[in-house]
Amino acid sequence: MNDHVSALMADVKAKNPSEPEFHQAVQEVVESLSLVLDQHPEYRKGKIIERIIEPERVIMFRVPWQDDQGELHVNRGFRIQMNSAIGPYKGGLRFHPSVNLGILKFLAFEQVFKNALTTLPMGGGKGGADFDPKGKSDSEVMRFCQAFMCELFRHIGPDTDVPAGDIGVGAREIGFLFGMYKRLKNEFTGVMTGKGLTWGGSVIRPEATGYGAVYFAGEMLKTRKEELKGKTCLVSGSGNVAQYTVDKLISLGAKAVTLSDSTGYIYDEAGINREKLAFVMDLKNNRRGRISEYADKFKGATFTPADPALDHNPLWDHKAECAFPSATQNEINAKDAANLLRNGVYVVSEGANMPTTIDGVNQFLEAKILFGPGKAANAGGVATSGLEMAQNSMRISWTREEVDTRLFNIMRTIHEVCHRTAEKYGTPGNYVNGANIAGFLKVANAMMDQGLV
Ligand code: NDP
Repeated sequence: MNDHVSALMADVKAKNPSEPEFHQAVQEVVESLSLVLDQHPEYRKGKIIERIIEPERVIMFRVPWQDDQGELHVNRGFRIQMNSAIGPYKGGLRFHPSVNLGILKFLAFEQVFKNALTTLPMGGGKGGADFDPKGKSDSEVMRFCQAFMCELFRHIGPDTDVPAGDIGVGAREIGFLFGMYKRLKNEFTGVMTGKGLTWGGSVIRPEATGYGAVYFAGEMLKTRKEELKGKTCLVSGSGNVAQYTVDKLISLGAKAVTLSDSTGYIYDEAGINREKLAFVMDLKNNRRGRISEYADKFKGATFTPADPALDHNPLWDHKAECAFPSATQNEINAKDAANLLRNGVYVVSEGANMPTTIDGVNQFLEAKILFGPGKAANAGGVATSGLEMAQNSMRISWTREEVDTRLFNIMRTIHEVCHRTAEKYGTPGNYVNGANIAGFLKVANAMMDQGLV
C-alpha cells in the first residue's frame, strides 16, 4: 500500500468502524486508483475519492411484522443511496440474517462502479434487511415485504432510486414489494426491476447475471483463443445466479460439477445436465429445499455438509478449469485460491459480489490466470435491469433474442473496456485494475462536471 492509500484507509476505518467488508471493497478500489490519481491531480484536488466513498444518503428503519402465530417481530431495514452522478440509484435488496450496514455499504460501493461499466445511465445503491425468508410461509414473507415497503416507498421512485433483487429477494418478494408500493403511491411505474413478465418485467432478467458471468468468462478465454466448450466448471450457490450460470454452461458445452447452499455442496462428476438442473430449479424456487436432496436423487453425486471448523471450502478443491463463485462474499479465501490454482483452474468469473478475499485475488493476479472480478463479470444482471427500465419508460417489451443480444453485447463491451483500460494503465490482463479504473473514470468525470454536490 502506498502512503496515500494507507492514509485514506486509516480514515475509512476510523470513520466506519466494524465494517470490514466495506473496508475491503474500498481498499481494493483505491489500490487500483493510485495508477490514475498520479496522472490526474484534478481528482485529488476535487476530493473525488473522499466523496465517492461517502454515501449520499443512508436510510435505516424499523420493520415490524407479525408471524402466522400472531407473534410480533422487529427487523432492521436499510437503503444506501451511494452515488447518483450518472443516473438514479440502482441496486438490489438483500434479505439475509447477516445483513448489516457494512455489508450493504460494500455492496452499494461496488454497485457504483459496476453500473458505470454497463454503459447505461444508472447510479449505485443497495438495501435490504436482516430478515431470513428461509422457513417462513408465503403470508409471512408477504407481510414482511409490505411492512418493509411501508417505509421504503418514500425514498424511491422510477427517477430517484430503482431497487431490484439480491440474496433472499427473488420474483416472489419483488411482487409483494411492488404491490405495496403501487398501493401506497397509487402509481404504476417501473420503480423496481425483476418484475413479473405480465406486469412490466423483462425477459432474460432472471437469467442475466448467470448468463453474463458465463459470457464474460467466454470473452476472457477468447483472448487466449480458447472457448468454454469441454471445460469442467466449479459453481457455488444454487440460487438465481448459480442456476443460470449452469444453464448457460450446458448450452455452451461446458460441464458444471458442483452446486452448494449454506448447508454444504454437491459434487457430480458426470456433470449437471438439463434434467438435473430442472430438479435444482424446482427444489430451490418452488419447494425451497436443501441441496443435499440432489445427492439423494442422482446416483454418483455426493453431498458434503458445510463444516465451519474447516479453514477452507472443499468445493474449491476439485480438478477443473473454470470456477464461478455464485453464492456470497468472501467464499474463496487464500487457501481456497491456492487449492483452485493447484487443481488447474485458470478462469475465475465472479457471479457473486466480492466472493474472493483480497489475499485470494492477489494470488489469482500473481498467477496471471483469467480473473473476472464481480463488478465486471456479474454486471449482466444490473445491465438487464437497465434494459427493463428502458422498456418500462417506452412502454414496450423486447423479445428474448433482442434482450439476450443486448446483454451479450454489453458483456463484450465491459470485457473490452476492462481489458483495454488495464493495458493503458500498465497492468495488462489485470481485470481488477481495468474494472476499477474504467468504472471510476466515468463516475469521477460526471462528479467533476456537476460541481461540489
Ligand atoms: P439467491 O438468494 O438466489 O441464492 C444465494 C445462494 O447462495 C443460495 O444457494 C444460498 O444458500 C447461498 N448463500 C447465501 N449466503 C450464503 C452464506 N452466507 N453462506 C453460504 N451460502 C450462502 O441469491 P443470488 O443468486 O441472487 O445472489 C448470489 C450472489 O450473486 C450474491 O453475492 C449477490 O449479491 C450476487 N449478485 C446477484 C445478482 C442478481 O441478479 N441476483 C446480480 C449481481 C450479483 P442458502 O439458500 O442456504 O442461503
